[in-house]
Amino acid sequence: MASRRLLLVLAICRLISTVGLPSELLELGVQGSLTIDPAEVEAASHDFGGLTQTKPLAVLRPDSVQDVVALLRSAYGSDRGFTVSARGHGHSIHGQAQTGSGVVIEMGRMKRENRPVVVGELPPPPSSSSSSSSSSSSSSKRNKEWYADVWGGELWIDVLKSTLERGLAPKSWTDYLYLTVGGTLSNAGISGQAFNHGPQISNVHQLDVVTGKGELKTCSEEKNPELFHAVLGGLGQFGIITRARIALEPAPERVRWIRVLYSDFSTFTRDQEYLISLHEEPASMRFDYVEGFVIVEQGLINNWRSSFFSPRNPVKISSLGATANGGVLYCLEITKNYNDATAANTVDQEVDALLKKLDFIPGTVFTTDLPYVDFLDRVHSAELKLRAKGLWDVPHPWLNLFVPKSRIADFDAGVFKGILGNKTSGPILIYPMNKNKWDERSSAVTPDEDIFYLVALLRSALSSGDETQTLDYLSRQNQEILAFCTKARIRVKQYLPHYTTQSDWEHHFGHKWEKFLQTKMEFDPKGILATGQRIFSPTP
Ligand code: FAD
Repeated sequence: MASRRLLLVLAICRLISTVGLPSELLELGVQGSLTIDPAEVEAASHDFGGLTQTKPLAVLRPDSVQDVVALLRSAYGSDRGFTVSARGHGHSIHGQAQTGSGVVIEMGRMKRENRPVVVGELPPPPSSSSSSSSSSSSSSKRNKEWYADVWGGELWIDVLKSTLERGLAPKSWTDYLYLTVGGTLSNAGISGQAFNHGPQISNVHQLDVVTGKGELKTCSEEKNPELFHAVLGGLGQFGIITRARIALEPAPERVRWIRVLYSDFSTFTRDQEYLISLHEEPASMRFDYVEGFVIVEQGLINNWRSSFFSPRNPVKISSLGATANGGVLYCLEITKNYNDATAANTVDQEVDALLKKLDFIPGTVFTTDLPYVDFLDRVHSAELKLRAKGLWDVPHPWLNLFVPKSRIADFDAGVFKGILGNKTSGPILIYPMNKNKWDERSSAVTPDEDIFYLVALLRSALSSGDETQTLDYLSRQNQEILAFCTKARIRVKQYLPHYTTQSDWEHHFGHKWEKFLQTKMEFDPKGILATGQRIFSPTP
């Protein structure tokens, strides 16, 4: 009797809580689960930024690509209309994967057995016998090429683990691997390998995409190229990536990881630019990864990515001439990959030859050596440390900018040595990239110069302590930095962009805007997808 009453109460609760759901959703037949469970809805309403929270009407955990197709067909055909946002791992800052008027698809939560990582070899290029001598020489240089077919909601750490079973690994990375393939390909996916391989969006052969009309399309350079290029860096606006074919290379076994320090900014950037200019050289004559960061102040929250200076190698900023330089030091971070069997003896010589060309502060070489996986997964160990201290789940008012090379010194003077005032509340990354490694046909937006820098202010806001670490203070400072760039005419582009007006978006995309708009009209005419980006509003 008691249990029958409980069932009745549950049924009534369910009825009340589904009031307001579009009827199409109530009738949607999916193999996975479409739920209004408050805990699932709550979880889908958060992101890493912790700055906004929007609860969806429901959450879909797909069981297959067909579930994604069914949901989008239903949204497209719905009279009342509802929106659909793919959520990767929810590591956006400003609610980009959230939606308040529809369904969030938890892409990462499909059953593991339904999303195997399939590794294969690309077919050889068409015979070069009839082609010109230059193309035949380039194709003869071409080694075997491998790929992995992966589910769009796969975490990069899991892609790595699977491909390593075949001795292979993706070529281009992000610094942190607990991000999804679909999430980073919707932005660009950058790290210290980008100067050489380009961003992750330059290392994709093919995609399966479910458009805003509910059509499942395979696209590549050859097939549906308009959709392919639009989706890469497309902020989720044209379709949901359900499968990506990622370029692989043989995985090295170990990494020599080196840091050197500078007190002079122009020497630091000159060396960084020299190192990325070596991208056409054979691997033995260049580094595999080039990044860098600004050291404005020390402490765990500022240096959580920099595990190996201390305690074995304590750096005393005051002893390195930084005080005379507004208290700022710059750290160049480079790596060399190698295999024990073939290069253990030569790696030292190769590193030494490259270091000799650089002009860092003498005596500031910090070296460590570790397995390739540990290097790629380095930020995760920092995450665990911060979690243990309750410093991970805090608001993150991050600001990521692409700064043209011609103005990076002005940015240094105005921001690192000016606006920040010796306080950072998080690591500041700075490294250059070669624009020719980015495909202009993608939706990603970069400054109009051959070389541009990523400047990433990865800030954590704390509720107690210093006023300069509060969310209000850091958010205001971000606005101040953007206003400074506008006033000084430094034509920065936001990476992981966040704008709230259409005119700001038009300005962001610049000459790509018209095409972006046209492609949106073609593949998501009702504006159903990724409304959390705040580029378009849904139309009935
Ligand atoms: P989400 O935040 O869940 O989604 C991002 C956007 O993509 C949303 O609009 C969403 O709707 C859309 N989307 C998600 N999945 C799909 C899909 N399958 N198809 C279509 N659209 C989709 N970025 C770098 O480039 N380099 C780094 O080194 C780097 N390091 C980071 C470190 C940390 C600790 C964090 C928190 C972020 C970092 N990022 C970095 C940023 C990261 O690339 C973005 O957060 C990105 O959004 C990926 O996160 P996600 O997979 O959780 O996607």
